[in-house]
Amino acid sequence: MHRSRILLAAAALGVIAAATLHLACSAGPRPPNVLLISIDMLRADHVSAYGYTRPTTPAIDRLAQEGTLFEEHISSSSWTLPAHAALFTSLPDGIHGATDTDKALGPAATTLAERFQSAGYETVGFFAGPYLHPAFGFGQGFDRYENCTSYAKELDSEPSAQWSMDPKVMRESHADVTNPTVLARFVSWFQGRSERPFFAFVHLWDAHFDFVPPPPWDQRFDPEYKGTVDGKGFFFDERINPTMPARDLEHLIALYDGEIGWTDQHVGQICALLASRGLLDDTVVLVTSDHGTEFFEHGRKGHRQTLYDEVVHVPCVLRYPKAVPAHARVKQTTRSIDVGPTLLALAGLEAPADVIGESLLPLLKPGNSVRPPRAVCELDSVGIHLRAVRTSKWKFVDRVDAGDPLWFDLATDPKELTPLSDLQSELGKRASQAYLEEVGVLDAWIDRHPPTHVTSAVPGGVRHQLKGYGYVGGDENPVEPPKKD
Ligand SMILES: [Zn+2]
Repeated sequence: MHRSRILLAAAALGVIAAATLHLACSAGPRPPNVLLISIDMLRADHVSAYGYTRPTTPAIDRLAQEGTLFEEHISSSSWTLPAHAALFTSLPDGIHGATDTDKALGPAATTLAERFQSAGYETVGFFAGPYLHPAFGFGQGFDRYENCTSYAKELDSEPSAQWSMDPKVMRESHADVTNPTVLARFVSWFQGRSERPFFAFVHLWDAHFDFVPPPPWDQRFDPEYKGTVDGKGFFFDERINPTMPARDLEHLIALYDGEIGWTDQHVGQICALLASRGLLDDTVVLVTSDHGTEFFEHGRKGHRQTLYDEVVHVPCVLRYPKAVPAHARVKQTTRSIDVGPTLLALAGLEAPADVIGESLLPLLKPGNSVRPPRAVCELDSVGIHLRAVRTSKWKFVDRVDAGDPLWFDLATDPKELTPLSDLQSELGKRASQAYLEEVGVLDAWIDRHPPTHVTSAVPGGVRHQLKGYGYVGGDENPVEPPKKD
C-alpha cells in the first residue's frame, strides 16, 4: 500500500475510533437511532393524513397519529437530485449547487450522513433512483450506500455524464420496480447491524412513474376501469397529454395512488421490523418526499418543469415518542432543509453552524415560531430557471432568465390558477420584499463561503436528444399554456 494511502487509512480509523469513543463517553442515555425515509414523488395531497379522500397511506397515517405532521412542508425543488441534495446538506439549491445533472455535491459539502458518522453512528443508505447515485456525491458519510436499482451495473460502470440524461436510463428507471429490493436490503443489513446507534436513509422509488403497482394495488382504487391506459411509459407516452379523456386520467391517478399504497405498505413493514425488536420507540422516524408530480393541473405532466404546489408541497411526518408530541400538527411553513437539523437535534447532537436549515423542534411547542414562516424553492435545470418564495398566504415566483416575476394569492387562489403581476398592491409589495430578503440571505452566504459542488460535462449530443422528448426545456414558465409536445 502506498504510504499516503496508509496514512489516509490510519486517519480514517482514527476518526472512527474517536467517534465511537465520543458516543461511548457521552453522558446520559444511549442516543436514538434515526430513520429517514424519502418516498420519491409523493404529493402531500395524496397522503390520507393530509386530507386525501382515498386511504392511500395507513402506515404514514399511523406515524402521524403517534407523532407530529408538518402541514405545509415545502421541498427545495421539483426534482430528485437538487431536492435530495438540500435534504442531505440543509442548504437551499442556490447554495449546495447540485442543481442539474452535470453537477454534484463535492467533497467540500457536508452531508447529514457525515454528521451522524462523525458522531459515531453506523450510517447506511439504500437508494433506488439514478439521481441518488454516489456519482452525485450522495454516498458521502455512509458506511454502506447500496444501489437498489435493477440497472445498477450500468450506472456503476460509467461516469454519470454518460447516463445522467440518457433516455434509455430514464426509461429503465421509470419502469423499474424496487420496493421489494430496498426492503430486502434493509432487512439484510438490519439483521447484521453493529451495536452502535444507526442513521438509516431509505429511498422508496416506486410511487414515481411509471404507475405499475402489483395486485391488489393495481385494482385497489379503480376496479371498474375498462379502458386501455395502463400506467406504463407515463412520461414518454404521447397519448397521455392535456387533452386525454378524463376517465383515462382518473385511472392513471388511481394507479399512482395504488403505487403510493403499495409503497406505504413497505414503510409499515420497516416500522414493524423495528417494533418487533423493541426499537421503534428508540428510533426517530421521519417520512418525507423530494417532490410531487403534475397531472395537467397547469397543463403539464411530470415534474422538473415548474414550482407549483403539486410538485413542491410534500409530506413530512415525524415520530419519536420520547420528544415529539403525538396527534400534533404544525401549521407553519417548513422546509426540506430543516429536516437535517431536526434529526440532529433529536439525536442530541450540536446544531451545525454551516447550514441554513433550522431545527423544527421549537415548533413542537404551541405558539412558537423559529423564523419567518416561508420557504425558498428553486428549479435551475435543463434551461429552466425559476426561484420562488412560498408562505401559507402567497407564492412569489421569479422567472430568473425569462421575464417579469409573478405571484399568487394562495388565500383566495390555492390552486395557483390566477397569476398576479401587480407588485404595487399591498400583498404584491410584501411578497416581493420577502423574496428580496431571502435572495439577500442566499447572496450573503455565497459571498462568505466557497462553492461545495463540482461540475462535470454532459455530452451535448445527449442533451440535444432529450429535447425531442420534452425533458429538456428552455422556455418553460409557470403560466404559459402547456406545449403539447
Ligand atoms: Zn424524485
